[in-house]
Amino acid sequence: MVPFPKGRLEPEQYIEGILQGNVVILSKAITLVESSLEYDKKLSKKILEQLLPYTGNSIRLGITGVPGVGKSTFIENFGLEVIKKTSKKIAILAIDPTSQKTKGSILGDKTRMERLALHPNAYIRPSPAGHSLGGTAQKTRETLLLCEAAGFEIIFIETVGVGQSETLVSEMTDFFLLLMLAGAGDELQGIKKGIMEMADMLVITKADGENKHKALVAKTEYEGALHLFRPSEMGWQVPVQTCSALQNEGLSKVWERIEEYFKISKEKGFFDKKRKEQQLTWLNETIKNELLEYFYKQDAVKQALENAKNAVNEGKKDAIHAAQEVLEKIIHFK
Ligand code: GDP
Repeated sequence: MVPFPKGRLEPEQYIEGILQGNVVILSKAITLVESSLEYDKKLSKKILEQLLPYTGNSIRLGITGVPGVGKSTFIENFGLEVIKKTSKKIAILAIDPTSQKTKGSILGDKTRMERLALHPNAYIRPSPAGHSLGGTAQKTRETLLLCEAAGFEIIFIETVGVGQSETLVSEMTDFFLLLMLAGAGDELQGIKKGIMEMADMLVITKADGENKHKALVAKTEYEGALHLFRPSEMGWQVPVQTCSALQNEGLSKVWERIEEYFKISKEKGFFDKKRKEQQLTWLNETIKNELLEYFYKQDAVKQALENAKNAVNEGKKDAIHAAQEVLEKIIHFK
């Protein structure tokens, strides 16, 4: 018997609440998605299953950039600008590869995005801590679906541009925005070429005061660098924009370019094509994550793993053989 934890609602109450756009219920449902309790997992799966027909209707934007590039300042002011222009409801989620180590979160600090957080059209949810990156991404994706069912029409997924989580974010979003600093020494400032290739738009932040000129120079340089890349299948030339989130300059233009992208990608069928491909990726990812979780939960595996670690530590076995012995608890070779 799975114990019934305190404070849970009936599945129908979550479903109705979310479909009515009730953010208190939405938050409770996201907590279930993030929970590692068996009861919560079953409940959240039931809720998600019922809500799936109401998902998929938002535009999903990934945003990345190195720490200090100005992500939170940008998202707050850009989010407010987009709400002003479109009157749409926006949700901001995060995948934070650092949160497993520090138990912190890029969206964890309540003082970040204070004005946006107070806006009735905005919903901000920090990254779930304490899971593997793959597990975190899985939970963020399920959270995204819940937000869509709750009527959020634009979803931002933020991640720190340090190289691990960008692929996961680009696999769950329709458009990927890379924020860059101008003149920060190395023009690529640790942003790997692979990340630039994933981007659908580059935005150079902090283009104000003394930095304005540097930002314009960087814009030309990045435009040159991007021309060396193969044009995307859809024929989209990745634009480079400058902006100052603090002075609210250039944000409106960034949004116009994003709208332009969606117009073209929907007209040419790339929007649906990409979503379908992403479904296949998530099918595989989900199987992988569930298998891993199942594997490590087995008592026989736990015991064998403990023994294997000791044996490797004491130099009695090498890692490959020790791993084989653990795997044999579940997988029967030959
Ligand atoms: P994050 O770590 O990427 O989320 O970056 P933050 O949004 O916290 O910004 C880092 C620092 O850059 C803060 O001190 C911000 O005030 C500053 N900053 C952010 N956007 C701008 C901008 O448009 N212009 C200027 N001058 N500073 C900015």
